[in-house]
Amino acid sequence: MNTQHEKNNSLFESIAALEGALFIDGEFRKGTGARLPVENPANGEVIGHIAAATPAEIEAAVSAARRAFRLWSAELPKTRARALHRLGELIAEDALNMAKIMTSEQGKPLNEAKGEILKLAEACHFYAEEATRVHGEIVPNDQHGFQSLVVREPVGVVGAITPWNYPAELVGWKLCASLASGCTIVIKPAEITPFTALAIAEKCAEAGIPAGVVNVLTGKGSLIGQALVEHPQVDKIAFTGSSAVGLHIQQSCPQVKRLSLELGGNCPMIVTASADIPAAVKGAVRRGFRNCGQICIAVNRIYVHRPVYDDFVSQVGAAADRLVLGNGLEMPDADLGAMASAEPLNKTRGHLNDALEKGARLIAGGKAPEGAHYAAGYFFRPTVVADCTHEMQVMTEETFGPLVGIMPFDRVEEAIALANDTPYGLAAYVYARDLTEIHTLSAALDYGNVAINNVDAGIMNAPYGGRKQSGVGYEHGREGLLEYFNFKHIRLYHGVRG
Ligand code: NAD
Repeated sequence: MNTQHEKNNSLFESIAALEGALFIDGEFRKGTGARLPVENPANGEVIGHIAAATPAEIEAAVSAARRAFRLWSAELPKTRARALHRLGELIAEDALNMAKIMTSEQGKPLNEAKGEILKLAEACHFYAEEATRVHGEIVPNDQHGFQSLVVREPVGVVGAITPWNYPAELVGWKLCASLASGCTIVIKPAEITPFTALAIAEKCAEAGIPAGVVNVLTGKGSLIGQALVEHPQVDKIAFTGSSAVGLHIQQSCPQVKRLSLELGGNCPMIVTASADIPAAVKGAVRRGFRNCGQICIAVNRIYVHRPVYDDFVSQVGAAADRLVLGNGLEMPDADLGAMASAEPLNKTRGHLNDALEKGARLIAGGKAPEGAHYAAGYFFRPTVVADCTHEMQVMTEETFGPLVGIMPFDRVEEAIALANDTPYGLAAYVYARDLTEIHTLSAALDYGNVAINNVDAGIMNAPYGGRKQSGVGYEHGREGLLEYFNFKHIRLYHGVRG
């Protein structure tokens, strides 16, 4: 497959070029395993097929990564940084084409997809800079004549297993951290969004990243993902996905292995009476419904101080009703595209029915949009239910769809208890202007990320990770990069002694 050829070609040709492809040892090869269809969720059309990697192909990818590790880990950090900068440039240059591939397999509107691709390009540049800043330490010793060096060495071969909601960034963060640290990587993207990962592999080849450093295997998680988890030559698993699969990976790993697990959320927002209500409404709608709510840090449930409850509920309902849905390729500016597949759509309907049966009030949405444009796709109107309780799934489980539940509270302590009443601990949001409330809530919320008076919980410079069933380990920041290193203590004696 020619890595240059599709640059100015149509979307169809771009995807056709990746049909049935696996990226192993620096080249695309046609997979020999069973073909699995990939569907455009906006219209149900099959856009292409992937090959389920066979055991021999999995072995070839892991062996290539193992061989390449010796060379790549020995490269100077500035060489790895150069490759990452080049990768970032190539991705940014081809952002529109890559976004079209993403939209056609995931459903998000084209401009949103392009934004994600450009953020991946930024991540490449961030990690390129970080690559040159990783250093060890000389730590104090307990006897004269000794020196203790703590050095950092890359972990080895990384198996990256990723979900479908952010097909570029969730692959890219693991790829960038591997490239920066000197690790090599075998990526297993979600089976419904594989072409974005293959398109990223094309860019790696174009950027001159040596053969074997990056590999992409497609197919079912329970087979290909599991094979990476069980492979003795894979030193670390970097997983993003559901808590159930994350736990299964942790329990089924047959060797001691480094694991980072970025898992599910059921993220609360607390709005107190001191809040700027229009800003809180805007934040709730953006973080509740962006990417159809298929975001691990989506606002799933909102607790609102009783004095401002009715006003907030009606404003959120009206704002949700104004959101425009559309086929992401035909309406690049739409607020919401199609949901990624039938599975999250059915789960959303299930949580909605559960809430309504238990007495919730429907404020907005609650159904698929009408019209021929939407008929064959997985579309669902952004939906708001109020007067919820913790008897309802929408308040206690991750919906991962365009559904938000709202519930009133009387005292801030009550809101804290409700927000923390969950097995998850990924992200929480607060809107308040009272400083005491802000400090109390920041400290008391048992979450890895807390955003106050905004809904953008993550930045590249800060560690991003979950607590409890939301995961172990971090991505982003210095802490995220260190997940890809082992420490080695070298204790030197200034002389020789037995
Ligand atoms: P999923 O757990 O079903 O699948 C994730 C990946 O795991 C896929 O590539 C899948 O093929 C693979 N997989 C499935 N079974 C496997 C097995 N037995 N062994 C190895 N790999 C296996 O998740 P999903 O439905 O694709 O994604 C949605 C979930 O991801 C949500 O719960 C969401 O909250 C979570 N998520 C978390 C974060 C985060 O940063 N914490 C970010 C995005 C998504």
